[in-house]
Amino acid sequence: MTDFWITNAALILPQEECKGALRISHGLIQEIRRDQQIPMDGSKVLNANGCRLSPGFVDLHVHGGGGADFMDGTSEAFQQACLAHSRHGTTSLLATTTAADPEHLFRMLLVAKDLVHKNTGGARVMGVHLYGPHFHGPAKGCHPEPKRFSPEQIQKLMAFAPILTAATLAPEHPDAESFARQCVAHGIRLHMGHSHCTFDQAETAVGWGVRHVDHLFCAMSDRARLRLEQTWPMRGGLLEATLCLDALSTEVIGDGCHLSPELLRLAWRVKGPHRLALVTDAMRAMDLPPGEYVFGPKEAGVKVFSNGRVGLMQDGKALASAIQGMDQGVRQLLAATGEPIWRIIQTASLIPARIAGLDKNIGSLEVGKRADMVLLNEDLYPIRVWVGGVEIPAIGPKLIP
Ligand SMILES: [Zn+2]
Repeated sequence: MTDFWITNAALILPQEECKGALRISHGLIQEIRRDQQIPMDGSKVLNANGCRLSPGFVDLHVHGGGGADFMDGTSEAFQQACLAHSRHGTTSLLATTTAADPEHLFRMLLVAKDLVHKNTGGARVMGVHLYGPHFHGPAKGCHPEPKRFSPEQIQKLMAFAPILTAATLAPEHPDAESFARQCVAHGIRLHMGHSHCTFDQAETAVGWGVRHVDHLFCAMSDRARLRLEQTWPMRGGLLEATLCLDALSTEVIGDGCHLSPELLRLAWRVKGPHRLALVTDAMRAMDLPPGEYVFGPKEAGVKVFSNGRVGLMQDGKALASAIQGMDQGVRQLLAATGEPIWRIIQTASLIPARIAGLDKNIGSLEVGKRADMVLLNEDLYPIRVWVGGVEIPAIGPKLIP
């Protein structure tokens, strides 16, 4: 069924929440009514019973879920991860690579090329977020040791520019500037992350075109870290640059394990509501029992653990990616900030869509946009999800007959 009305919903619109109804046809939102009166034209009608209807979530930073990692490099792995995330309300995502051998990276990119914007049976892959070749080694976190790419390999990478939505670099990497210039020339958005750079180096990178910083507070330099290597005056690192520079948007992992509520509050206070996105940074262990998993390509990734709440390195202390969906981030950020729900939902939908340059077509409930929607229960758990007006099967207990 692709033509229908949803009535009696609390619509989460870009600037407010209001009671209303919405008409979907040909995969798009065709009409939004603030009253409950809808024409009796024989269309199918779904009664939302007063539940909140939110725009589908947009995840800029996600490695996998439901047992699969995008770096497994098969269309089945993509479909598995996309389905798992759609059950948490994500309707669009950027498949994010890990640091890896070029052979594994190119295998993944070939699969992504075939699937971008296509039906995956779950969340839509809007593009790839390239992660890895330009990390600062000591800030790699749970990723394998980043391999330096040859100029020929970078050139081969640029051939995938049409599907490379974003690329992350550490400004202090010896190849960062030339890579940044090539990305800008090919229309690839630039992020900074996995870096121990100084404030100055971050500001220089903004001059190259960097506009976003990955997972604020995680795998990045700050005053305290830089102080270990110098005396005075104390200097800011990537953390302080991100908070200070208006040119930079950023993102937080809202799983409730990476960041304490006060850090979420600080991020919101400084970068919200227009320059802060929620991301999952989830890996394959999402929705699977606690145990040992591989982060990155199945046959060549890093062994990590899931304790059922978050990913951990072998030592059981350092964090290794996340295992919670976008819906968890919405609930956590809401609890940490006390902001209105519609505003927090923007952080999971319109703002990330804008950061990725996709907000013309997705990210909000507006006429003409793709009918990507999540019906949320009172506790903000997804109960029904639609991608392009097509419902994802078996989300949870159905409230609507
Ligand atoms: Zn990361």
